[in-house]
This record gives sequence, C-alpha cells and structure tokens, in this order.
Amino acid sequence: MVAPPTDSFKRKIDYLRLSITDRCNLRCTYCMPEHGVPKIDHADILRYEELVRLAEIVAGMGMSKIRITGGEPLVRKDVLTLCERISRIPGIRSLSITTNGVLLSDFARGLRDAGIKRINVSLDTLKPEKYALITRSDRFSRVWEGIMAAQEAGISPIKLNAVVMNGVNDDEIEDLAHLTFKYPFHVRFIEFMPFRQQPEFEGRLVPAPEILARLRRVAPLALADNGESNGPALHYRFEGALGKLGIISPVSDHFCPSCNRLRVTADGKLRTCLFSREETDLRLPLRQGNSEEEIADRIRSAISLKPEKHQLSDAVFRKCISRPMFSIGG
Ligand code: SAM
Ligand code: SF4
Repeated sequence: MVAPPTDSFKRKIDYLRLSITDRCNLRCTYCMPEHGVPKIDHADILRYEELVRLAEIVAGMGMSKIRITGGEPLVRKDVLTLCERISRIPGIRSLSITTNGVLLSDFARGLRDAGIKRINVSLDTLKPEKYALITRSDRFSRVWEGIMAAQEAGISPIKLNAVVMNGVNDDEIEDLAHLTFKYPFHVRFIEFMPFRQQPEFEGRLVPAPEILARLRRVAPLALADNGESNGPALHYRFEGALGKLGIISPVSDHFCPSCNRLRVTADGKLRTCLFSREETDLRLPLRQGNSEEEIADRIRSAISLKPEKHQLSDAVFRKCISRPMFSIGG
C-alpha cells in the first residue's frame, strides 16, 4: 500500500472532498442568496469519467477517504452510479456523502448498496417552522424521513451537522444534543462562518466554548474517541447516550494542525484550504489526457503549498474567503 502524501507541515493528506455539483434544492440563508446564483456551465462541471479518474489518481497516491459533496450531491443525475464506481476503486477505504437530506429517503438504500459507509446530514433545527426560515423551504419532515431511512438502511455513522447561529437556532443546542440519548447519531455543532458579508449575519457566531458549556449543563459529558476520523471535530459523549457529540470550531479555534484534507470544486479546481484563494486547475489536465503521473505531480505540488493555517480569526477574515460553501463543497 502506498503511504499518503504529506505536506510541508508533516500533515498526512489522505482525505478528498469531491464536490460533484454547485446546484442545490435548498437556499439556506447562510449559504446561498434567495434566488440562487449563476450556475457553472454544464460543460465546465467535471464529468463522471473525470471524477472517477481523479479518484483513481488520488487512490494511487495513497489517499483512502473520499467524501462526495456539493451543492447538493443527490440532485446530480445518476449519483449512485458515480458512488458505486468510486467505491470499487482499490485503495478507497471510506466513501461518504454530505447531504441536506431532502432526497435521502429515496436514496438511502441505493447509497448503501453503492458503497456509501458514512453519511453527514445537515440539520440546523428540529422545528419545521424554523427549518423553513433557515432553508427557505418547508421540507423538514422529508429530511427527518431521510435520516430514518438511512438508519434503516444500516448506514453508520449518521452524523447530523447543525450550524449554530445566535438568535436563530442556538436555543436548540440542548434539544439537538438530546437526540444522542435516543439515537446512535453523532450530533455535531458547527460554528457559523460569516462567508457572506451581510448585516444580518453580524453577531451570529456562537463560539465553541459557549456551545460546550451549554452541553455540559445538559448532562455529564466525557471526551469520546474520534473513531476513524482524524478530522476537525472534538468528540464528546453524554453518560449513557447512544450517540456522540462533536464541536467543529473553525472560527474560535484553529483545526488546521490536524487538517488532512483536500477539496475539489465541481468545476475541477483543487483547493488545499477551505479559506484560501489559491486553486489548482485539474480539469484541463484531466480533459487534455495528461498522464496519471502528471496529474498526481500537480496535486503533490499543490499539497506542498498547503497553508499551515487559515486567517479566520484575524481581521482580514472576510477578504480571505473567495467562494461560499455551496461552491467550494462543504
Ligand atoms: N448541500 C449539502 C448540505 O447542506 O449538507 C452539502 C454541501 S453544504 C455547503 C456542506 C455544509 O456546509 C453544510 O453542513 C452546511 O451547513 C455548511 N455550511 C454552509 N455555509 C456555512 C457557513 N456559512 N458556516 C458554517 N457552515 C456552513
Ligand atoms: Fe444547499 Fe447545503 Fe448550501 Fe444549504 S448548505 S444551500 S443545502 S449547499
């Protein structure tokens, strides 16, 4: 087995987040404008053959984990075929997907059969009316059905990701955390990142220490192991709970020292840091038939320039973010 590449700071890079579309069937207020955004031209989106070849190349470099994301990955036609092809690539040990869950009840079994082992579902609230405000859509019950369908299909772990926003859903931290008593889910709280420069997002950040303090008031909390992931979340567990809790704190605490990931946008741009402006084009080399070694070299060069840490806590925060999450692939 080939060892995964390391960057200049000795971080092992073994995880690729592959965005397969910039389109989405929701319009979450913190992610997309109400009337959407100009779509990337269809011809500029990586085709399935190109995505599979890219996955084969990174697997050949020793990277073993791929997460399919977007936009909303389940809106892309024939997504199951893509998952199946990627999951069969030798060296890919873990194939997962991040979804808003709207279409999950239709796809859960298919995803399992196509080799998806782990799933992340975004769920910021347990209240249908609030869900409608946050996502500008009334599909809360569809999402909940989807989560149940994923559980019935035996997909595990199921991680529920909630972006915590002051004055919007911070009053639900406890209720969301309580789900772990009833279900074996990992409920993860993500600090809101103010990507979009709008006044309504001022003051929305709830820092991780405050989220943690709120969780401690619910029940005794112990540190839990990180499972397979060496990603950015800190893991906890309530005594007697079935599931785990996680806090992802990109703003108040650098998770950069443990960053093991690369991202590729739907139009084939490699990003080594969520918050960086630097991108390396992979679409042209894939399209013009460059060899596997040439493309792998291009990826290795980008890895060697992966920044040590992001600038999020600094005053320059907003300037350093060049694309919103739906476009980068969260
Ligand atoms: N559409 C899928 C979904 O919502 O799960 C996948 C893509 S979405 C961009 C990936 C993740 O990014 C979601 O969990 C979403 O909540 C998160 N996200 C988007 N904008 C964010 C922001 N401004 N701050 C923190 N997380 C954000
Ligand atoms: Fe769509 Fe996900 Fe962005 Fe919401 S967070 S608008 S579901 S891409």
